[in-house]
Amino acid sequence: MTDFAATKARFHLPKDVIYLDGNSLGPLPKAAAGRMASAVTHEWGEMLITGWNRGGRDGAGWMAMPTGIGDRIARLIGAEPGHVVMGDTLSIKVYQALASAIEMRPDRKVILSDSGNFPSDLYIAQGLIQSLGRGLELKVVAPEDIANHIDETVAATLITEVDYRTGRLHDMKALTAKAHAAGALAIWDLAHTAGATEVDLAGAKADFAVGCTYKYLNGGPGAPAFIYVAPRHAEVARPALSGWLGHEAPFAFDLDYRPGHGIERMRVGTPPVLALAALEASLDIWDMTTMADIRARSIELTEAFVEGVEAACPMLTLASPREPNLRGSQISFRFEDGYAAMQALIARGVIGDFRAPDIMRFGFTPLYIDVGDVAKAVDIIADVMNRRLWDRPEYRKKARVT
Ligand SMILES: *Cc1c(COP(=O)(O)O)cnc(C)c1O
Repeated sequence: MTDFAATKARFHLPKDVIYLDGNSLGPLPKAAAGRMASAVTHEWGEMLITGWNRGGRDGAGWMAMPTGIGDRIARLIGAEPGHVVMGDTLSIKVYQALASAIEMRPDRKVILSDSGNFPSDLYIAQGLIQSLGRGLELKVVAPEDIANHIDETVAATLITEVDYRTGRLHDMKALTAKAHAAGALAIWDLAHTAGATEVDLAGAKADFAVGCTYKYLNGGPGAPAFIYVAPRHAEVARPALSGWLGHEAPFAFDLDYRPGHGIERMRVGTPPVLALAALEASLDIWDMTTMADIRARSIELTEAFVEGVEAACPMLTLASPREPNLRGSQISFRFEDGYAAMQALIARGVIGDFRAPDIMRFGFTPLYIDVGDVAKAVDIIADVMNRRLWDRPEYRKKARVT
C-alpha cells in the first residue's frame, strides 16, 4: 500500500489551505523548484546548445525527454511503453489525434462527441471541419446517449472519459468496442483521468488518447500535454501537424516531410525543456504509488465527502454520480449561488472551483489530500452554507478565471 503521508510531504501546500482543486491545477512538488533550477543553471547555463544531446537529469539529452517522460506517463494510463510522447498543449494534441483519425476513415463524415465534453475539444473539431471543407459534421449528443449514436456514418468518436463538470465516467472499454464494431476509431481525452482513475488504454484497445499534465499529474501551469497512438496505427497515422521534430530525420533538413517512426511522428517542434524538468519532479512522486492505490483512496475520500456534505448541507444537490464506480475523482454539487458560495469557501481556505451555470466542483487527490482534510473541509462548507456567509457583494464579483 502506498505511504500517502510520505507522498503528501513531497508537496508544498500553503498553510491553512485545503486544496480541492488539483483537478484543475495540481500543487507544487517541493523538488520541482530545485529540478528546474538545475535545468536552468547547470544544463541551460553550462551546457548551452550541447544540452540537446547531454542535458536532462539522466544525461540522455533534452531531445529524448518527450519520449522518456512519455514512458513514465504510459505506466499511469495503461499504455504500451514507447507509444506516448509529450509536447504542446492538450488542445493541439486533440487536433492531431482527430485529424489523424478522420483521415484513416476517408469515406465517413461524422465526428461523434457529447455535450459533457470540454468546449476546447468541440471547438477544435469545429475548426478542423471548417479547414478540411469536405462536408464533415460534428455530432454532439447527450453523454448517456452516445452509445446509441455510434453507427456506420461515424469516422471517430471524440470523448472525454471523465466529465469535467459532473465527474461522470464513460465506459471506455464498451464504447471503444462499439466504435470498432461500427468501423469507427475511438479517441479518448484523459484530461480528468490521468492520475485520477485507473485506465487501461491497451486493454480497452483505444486508438488514440490525449491528456494534460497540469491537472492531477501536478506538472505545473502550462505543463506539456501527451498523446498516445495505438501500436497498430503508429506507422500509419499521419500526424497532421508535420513539424520538423516529427520528421524521420530532422537534422537531414530535407525539403520534403517524411513522418518519423512510431510515436516520434506526433512531435511537432522544439520541446519545452524547462516545463518537462518540472514534470519530472512530479513524476518522481508518482513512482511512489500505483493507480490501483490511488483509485481506492480516492473512492474513500469522495465517499466521505459526499456523506459529510449531504448530511450538513441540504441546500446542495449532488451533481456527480452517487455510485463511485461511475465517477472520476471529483465531486460536484449544484447550488444556484454556487459562484458566490465558492468564493466564500476560498476565503476560508477551502479551494475548489465553479463551473457555469451552477456547479461547485471539488477534486480529490490522494497524493496530498487525506481524510482529515476532508473532515475539515466538510466543517467549513457546513458553516459557510448554513450561515449564508457567501451572501455578500464581494463574493459575487466574477473574476476572469472561475
Ligand atoms: C483541461 C482540458 C483542456 C484544456 O486544454 P489546454 O490546451 O491544455 O488548455 C482540454 N480538454 C479537456 C477535456 C480538458 O479537461
